[in-house]
Amino acid sequence: MQIADRRVSKIDGTVKLLFKFHDGAPAECVVLFNKGRASACLSSQSGCACACRFCATGAMGFNRDLTSSEITAQFDACLSEAGGDLGNIVFMGMGEPFLNWEHVKNAILFLSDQKGPAFPQSKMTVSTIGIVPVINELADSGLKIKLAVSLVTADNHQRAGLTPMEKKYPLTEVLEAAGKYCGKSGKSVFFEYILFDGFNDTHRYAEKLLDLIKGINCKINLILYNRFPGRDFSRSRMERVKEFQKALMKAGIRTYLRREKGSDIGAACGQLAAIRNG
Ligand code: SF4
Repeated sequence: MQIADRRVSKIDGTVKLLFKFHDGAPAECVVLFNKGRASACLSSQSGCACACRFCATGAMGFNRDLTSSEITAQFDACLSEAGGDLGNIVFMGMGEPFLNWEHVKNAILFLSDQKGPAFPQSKMTVSTIGIVPVINELADSGLKIKLAVSLVTADNHQRAGLTPMEKKYPLTEVLEAAGKYCGKSGKSVFFEYILFDGFNDTHRYAEKLLDLIKGINCKINLILYNRFPGRDFSRSRMERVKEFQKALMKAGIRTYLRREKGSDIGAACGQLAAIRNG
């Protein structure tokens, strides 16, 4: 395997690495810096079969699963970029981690092994579009990692237009699995919500979201849609975003706005496409 390309954001110092594995399969990983702390965003697959319409990885199609050693190689490269000090690992790069769960799980076990890198599981987050059977499995796994579930939006019809996975794992089943996960593991779940301009960013949708997550021990990550060529979505205006966040916070839900990083090098959320962009 080799690092075929390295890009550094002129805006915020984010680093994106493009790996080419032995068979030519590409995958990207990203190192993000926030208040002096570095995080690594790792890929679990080369491409992705989920075909979410808002995601550049989904648009490139699926090549193959990455092996656990291909995943840990990304960690090594990110650690080196971060000067040997990484605060967090997120499995939010290319691919759906729960559709390659055996290899991702093995990578997590290796990275957290006291005889290996000894990276705490509590500082790892796996993000899924909502693969229900694996959310259920995770609840019983004893792993200490954090779970993030991408709801995308709060309306099942809207969601069906944005991700084909809604057909296989409907929003209601995803939420039920997430609720059970919280009950069994005693942990909270992060729900990710993507804000599209004039589509799902009004007060009505904030109310809908609050209704859906009622009774679940959760926090919300609001994500601004990041453009990529060939899609006609637009991101929400900042005043709408702030209003949306305010409505959730007012209802007592801890709500974070994910700061966009590396957008000038195609490294922001939903932009990874394994091309030498930027
Ligand atoms: S959002 Fe995630 S699950 Fe959907 S296509 Fe992109 S990488 Fe795959």
